[in-house]
Order: sequence, then structure tokens, then C-alpha cells
Amino acid sequence: MTEQVLVQGDCAPADSLISETNAAPEASLPNGFVQLGLAPELVQAVADLGYTQPTAVQDKAIPLAMGAGDEAGRFIDLMVSSQTGSGKTAAFLLPVLHTLLRQQAEAEAAQRAEYERAAAEAAARGEAAPKRPKRKNPMQARNFKAAVPGALVLCPTRELAQQVAHDAIDLVKHCKGLRIANVVGGMPYQMQIAKLQNANLVVATPGRLLDLQRSQQIKLDQVQFLVVDEADRMLDLGFSDDLAEINALTAQRQQTMMFSATFAPRIQQLAMRVMHDGGASVKKIQIDSPQEKHSNIEQKLYWADNAQHKRKLLDHWLRDASIDQAIVFASTQVECDGLANDLQQDGFSAVALHGALSQGLRNRRLMALRNGQVQILVATDVAARGIDVPTITHVFNFGLPMKAEDYTHRIGRTGRAGRDGLAVTFAEFRDRRKIFDIEGYSRQQFKADVVAGLEPTQRFPQGGRPDFGGRGGREGGRGREQRFGGGGRGHGDRGGFGDRGGFGDRGGFADRGPRGDRGADRGGFAGRRDGDGYGRKSGFGDTPRFNDAPRFNDAPRFNDAPRHGHGRNDGAGPRGDFGRKPEFSKGGFAKSHGAGKSFTPHDARKRPARTER
Ligand code: AMP
Repeated sequence: MTEQVLVQGDCAPADSLISETNAAPEASLPNGFVQLGLAPELVQAVADLGYTQPTAVQDKAIPLAMGAGDEAGRFIDLMVSSQTGSGKTAAFLLPVLHTLLRQQAEAEAAQRAEYERAAAEAAARGEAAPKRPKRKNPMQARNFKAAVPGALVLCPTRELAQQVAHDAIDLVKHCKGLRIANVVGGMPYQMQIAKLQNANLVVATPGRLLDLQRSQQIKLDQVQFLVVDEADRMLDLGFSDDLAEINALTAQRQQTMMFSATFAPRIQQLAMRVMHDGGASVKKIQIDSPQEKHSNIEQKLYWADNAQHKRKLLDHWLRDASIDQAIVFASTQVECDGLANDLQQDGFSAVALHGALSQGLRNRRLMALRNGQVQILVATDVAARGIDVPTITHVFNFGLPMKAEDYTHRIGRTGRAGRDGLAVTFAEFRDRRKIFDIEGYSRQQFKADVVAGLEPTQRFPQGGRPDFGGRGGREGGRGREQRFGGGGRGHGDRGGFGDRGGFGDRGGFADRGPRGDRGADRGGFAGRRDGDGYGRKSGFGDTPRFNDAPRFNDAPRFNDAPRHGHGRNDGAGPRGDFGRKPEFSKGGFAKSHGAGKSFTPHDARKRPARTER
């Protein structure tokens, strides 16, 4: 029977899930990773990474993933609902690596015993001991053997797959002979195939994985553990064919684990099809973390009259001295390129990142962001998941996300590794439905702010909501009245396992979702149907408001962080390859490096202080 492990929180769904906050553990506690029974090599690796105690999701998922919940000692299928930023990557990597390590040790011990037995027999016959088999260099073509990994992690975006592979490599640092390979589209085949050799754990995006499987570079019939990260996206229609194929190719596996921030009812149904026995024995874990509520991320909304107005608001904000690094999200690839160009022209160190760029370029640009060589990444939703750069202090939603849940992923790029972050959203009045959808999804209501001198010309009624009454058109009136009407259904898929309907089963968002990385760049809310009125999403009036969160002016500042323009970006700092890349030759980036021009032109161009209301 499907079982749910409850981990506590103040918003556990009504279906009896238990919940537990992701509270920071005491430093004086015994090492929780040792207590979880993880191999010493892995305990050492997490210590090297500075993890002192497991996070809530690691605490819950690791023992179950290692087979603790099954009397017969079999591996259990898991569905884990936990936000990005909660430590979920290690929650699935650690148990899988632990088991692979144990199996490897057992295989080596068996091999040794076999050799010793053969040597003893030879000695008894008066013969010389048999020769030990020589290790063959897997990089040489004549030694080629298709890779037969024991574990496979699937991710929806290349960036996330690279991040997960990177984390896995960090975790196997002390594990002799455990190899990690990363298989993502857009990278040269040759190198990828060479690196695949002898891989024990492969982290992949589905398309390239199937390519390599079809050309027999990799065999999936030895996969014992299949992990699907960001399962909500992996299970939506854009990936479902690929996932079904991988499901069939790994039919012999012992365990399937799905990790996602949310599991809408429809997604849960799809997930069950991939689990053993149709999900009959799957265990569900739901974690409420501070990140889920994004209590460490202050969220702001600015209404704008039109695109130019948004641009002015963004410009105003980018001159905020507290910005260390920022991501500006755009709705489309065209908007993304245009905005990055504009910002470069204005002297900002900005680069674009979207699905139409070559993977090599995407990687270099991400690396530049990580290294602090770029201050502003202008991105489509391709970057909404999987970028883990702690120095990102601000996220700006210049173009709104295609799906309401992507808003959550986007803002989760800031406030990482225990820091605070600020997420600023600019919305035109015509985007109000998307704003309402985000509010419905997150069950939090924005409190709109204004910048003095850049107020929208449209007036706000007493209730603090924009007045749409006079605008007419098909949206006029309906949104406001029905939205606050209080009737309708809940938000079943907000965090955890949604069982109460709501977005997840509207058939809108997921059904017509994007295919792979590319689709995420299409404008508009996929599957948004005019027929679905806001009345279906009730209860906004009762939801917590953003203004409960600490105000911007009170929030901790980021001034302690190293400022760009001093050392790193003033021409004297390490430039690496990145500064020489031709794509930066004409923009603000090259200028800010070579000519010693500041990385933060906003520091130089003083503007009147911003006034918050
Ligand atoms: P994830 O949710 O996997 O994206 O992880 C978010 C961040 O938390 C990453 O930067 C991890 O390196 C970090 N992290 C994961 N586990 C722990 C832990 N037990 N203690 C401290 N940081 C962690």
C-alpha cells in the first residue's frame, strides 16, 4: 500500500500527511550523517562540503532510500516533495552512492576471494599463481565497452543535470573507483562517450541519454536505481514519451525515486505508472522547509503601465547598491537577448542565457556567473531550476513566467545557502491574471510597491489591488470579482502532494507544457484557458501577505559580500577564458573588464535614493 511519511509544517494537506520543519540542527549534535549509516567516504565528503548535519529531507529520505522501511530488506520506491534549496540533491545521491559503494566493495571482496581461491588451487598443483587481470585504459577505442551504469538520475534541464553531476562528483571525492558521468544535449558526443566509460552513476537529460542508448554507447539494463529529479516537469507531456521509454529500458531496476517541489494529483497519477506495482508500495515524504514558504526571500511587486515603464523600473532597481549578483528573467528568448543587449549598452555586466544558445556558450556564461565575472544573468526559464549560486542576491521577473510554479523556482535562485534574497516582479496590468495565478499557487498575496517618480498611471482602489474596472475587454471585471469571491477549489498542488484539485488537475499548465529546454522560452501561460475563471481558486483573502515579511529596508544588506568592480572585475582580477570570449567583445562585459571600467556602473552613476512606499 502507498504510505505517506509526514514531515510537519503548518500547511500539511488535509490527507493526514505529517510534517516537520527543516530547522537548523545544533552544531553540538552527534554527526547525523554517521547516524544515518552512510559509508565513511561519504561522511568525509559531506564534512568537506561543510555540511554539519543532514537537512530534514536528507534525514527522512536517506534511511528509506537505503531500504530501512522494508522488512525484507528490499529497496522502496519513494516520492519526495521538497523544495529546491532544501538539500534534496544529496538526499537522493547519498543513499544511491552508498549502495553502489557497498556493492562495489562486495564485488571486489568476491573477486579477491576468487583470486585467492584460484591462487591456492594453483599452488596445490605446484603451479604459479594466476595473473591478475590488467586494467585496460577505457579511453582507448579498442577497449571500448558500452557504459552500464548502476544508477541513473534524470533531470529536465541541462543546467540542472550538470549541477547534480557536479554535486555527485563532490560526494564521491573519497570513493575509490566510483565514477560519475554527465550526459546532456548540446555537448560534443566524443568527449561525453569517453567520459561515460565505466560510469557507475549517470546524470542525464532524457534526449541525449536515449540518443546514446540507441547508438549503443550506453546500456540501461543494469540500472538498479532510477531517480527522477524535478519530477513534476519530467512527467509533464513534454517529457513523458522519453520517460516512458527510459522506464521500459530500466524495467529491471530495484528502486525508483521521484523528487519534486510539488506533486499535483495528475502528476502523482503519472508518477505511479513509473513506480513498481503501479505505485502500490511507494512511500511519500513531504517536507516543509523555510524555503518552501520562501521566508528568507522578500518578494515585491511593481505594476507597470507598459514595457517601457517596466524597463525604467528595472533600470532603477539595477542601480541598487545592495545587488551582488542578479538574475533577470525574461518571458521569451527574444526578450532575453534584447534585454541583455540593452543592459550591456547601458554598461552593465550582463549576459543572456536561453535554450537557443549552444550548450558550450550556456556553460561558459553560467561559469562566468559562478565565478563572479558576470553580475547580471538575463535568462528565460531555462535557468529557473538548477542554478545554485549563493551570491545571487536579487531575482527580477521582468517577463512573467510561463507557469505559476516557475515563479517559485525562479525566486528560489536567490536566498540560497541560508542567505536572504530579494525577488522583484514587474507586471503590466494586462499580466494581472498571471500574477493572480502566482498568488494562488503560492497562496501568498503580493503587496504592490511603487517607486517614487515611477508610479503607474492607473490607480489602485482602497483594497490595494489595481483597478481594472475601466479597461473592459474580456478580462475586465472577471478576474477581480471572481477571484475574491471566495468560492471554488483549493490549491491542491501547492507544495507537497496536492490532493485537493486546483491547478494541478486543471489540465492547463502541465498538459500543454513545454518540450525540453526549448519550450520553456515560449511566451504565455501554457494551457491557460479562458474558461477557467479565478473563482476556482478561492481563499485569497485569507492568505498570508507578503508585507508580513521583513521589509527591504530592514532586511540584511549584502554589503559584506565582495563587490564587483573591486579586484575581480576591474581588469586586475582573474579574467580567465571568459573575458576573451568574442561574444563579450562588444558588450558591457568586455568593457568592464579590459578598460578597468567598474563592473557596477550603477555605483558610478549616482541616482537619487529610491523611496519605498
Ligand atoms: P539542493 O536542494 O540540493 O539544491 O541544495 C541546496 C544547497 O544546500 C546546495 O548548495 C547544497 O550544497 C546545500 N546543502 C545540501 N545539504 C546540506 C546540508 N546537509 N548542510 C548544509 N548545506 C547543504
